[in-house]
Amino acid sequence: MTNMPYIPSDGLINSFRRRFTRLQARKPLDCAQGRFLVSFTFDDFPRSAAINGAKILEKYGWRGTYYTSAAFVGTTNHLGDLFKPEDISKLVSQGHEIACHTEHHIDCALNAPVVIEREIRRNQARLRTLGAPKPVSFAYPYGEISASAKTLLGSHYQTLRGVRAGINRRYSDAHQLNAVPVEGGLDAKALAISYVEKLNEAPGWLIFYAHDVRDAPGEWGCTPALLDAVCAVVKNAGHEVLPVCDAMSALTGLEEAA
Ligand SMILES: [Zn+2]
Repeated sequence: MTNMPYIPSDGLINSFRRRFTRLQARKPLDCAQGRFLVSFTFDDFPRSAAINGAKILEKYGWRGTYYTSAAFVGTTNHLGDLFKPEDISKLVSQGHEIACHTEHHIDCALNAPVVIEREIRRNQARLRTLGAPKPVSFAYPYGEISASAKTLLGSHYQTLRGVRAGINRRYSDAHQLNAVPVEGGLDAKALAISYVEKLNEAPGWLIFYAHDVRDAPGEWGCTPALLDAVCAVVKNAGHEVLPVCDAMSALTGLEEAA
């Protein structure tokens, strides 16, 4: 792999497709059943997320979700050093969730279902070798989505997470969950905290996503201080913080009991 990040096309057609897929292959999910849920997730994932990110969450007694592309193991890119095999076993032993992000971090809008299927099966096999249980949660690399990818991935995973900023409320789509970035230095914390304040207003599920967590983060990373500041605001608000798989169980358990 190269050190240069792939940037999906941002043209008019892709913009339209992103909007249109929000209406297709939906799995309705009511996230406004009375609980105020927050999940912290890390994508790809860099070692700094496993070391610094997990340490911060654990300080609050919380666990996170790590969307993992197994082909990144032991490599280095614009996010810094990516995870090592021992990071997976340590995260699992401490109760964090290892989730799927395709094996090679592919753009799911541009690849045929047969390719995506091979990617997730190989990712699952490699994660199993590294000591992770079978993933039940998935995040689209780059947030790129097609209707056929939603249908296929939805048959394998309980939830599919995108990167469209927003809180998941009553009419949510478990095949395209909203998520809010935690990116930048301390000066960027206003955006993340504004979503915690929005969650304070009504029940819902706020999912954060981050990449590297280090003192000099890349463009898509954050400092440990920023992540800690966001955690402190969530803690003060009294919200319930769960890995994605447990938040989904909480929501579907409530639905079944209703
Ligand atoms: Zn990613």
